[in-house]
Amino acid sequence: MTLEWLLIKCDCGNHYGIKKNSRTSCSRCGGKNEFIISQTFSSSKELHSAVSAANAPDEIIQIINSKLKKIEKRRKKNNFENGNITNLQILMKNATNKIGVLTLDNLKLVLKNNSVENIGAEELIQISESEGYIIRSGTNQWTWL
Ligand SMILES: [Zn+2]
Repeated sequence: MTLEWLLIKCDCGNHYGIKKNSRTSCSRCGGKNEFIISQTFSSSKELHSAVSAANAPDEIIQIINSKLKKIEKRRKKNNFENGNITNLQILMKNATNKIGVLTLDNLKLVLKNNSVENIGAEELIQISESEGYIIRSGTNQWTWL
C-alpha cells in the first residue's frame, strides 16, 4: 500500500500537506474549513516542497505586512510629532547621573517609576542614539551630545 499525501488549500489561502485520510486543521488559521485538494503526491518529500512553493508568495506578503505593521506601531509609540519625546527626554535626563552619564539600569528604573509602559529603555536609547541626542560611552552607558 502506498501512502498518499495531499496538498490542501484552506479557505484562508494557506496551503499545507497531510497524509491521506488523516484529519488535521489548517496550519495557519487552525480552521477545519472546506478544503480543496490541490494535488496528491506519493512521497512526503515531494509534498513538502509543493507546500513551500504554494505558500511562498503568501509568506512574503505576510512578512512584508508584519514589518510594515511594526514600523507603524513604532511610529505611533514614539509620537515624535506631538512632543512626547520631550517628556521622555526629561526622564532620560533624570536617569543621568552627576557626571553626565546615562545608564540603562537608571533609565529602566526611571521609566518604571514614572509608569512609562509604552516604550522600553533599550528602545528609547536606540531612538535617541539615532536621533543624535546621546552617544554610547561604555557598556550600557551613554553621554549626552
Ligand atoms: Zn486556514
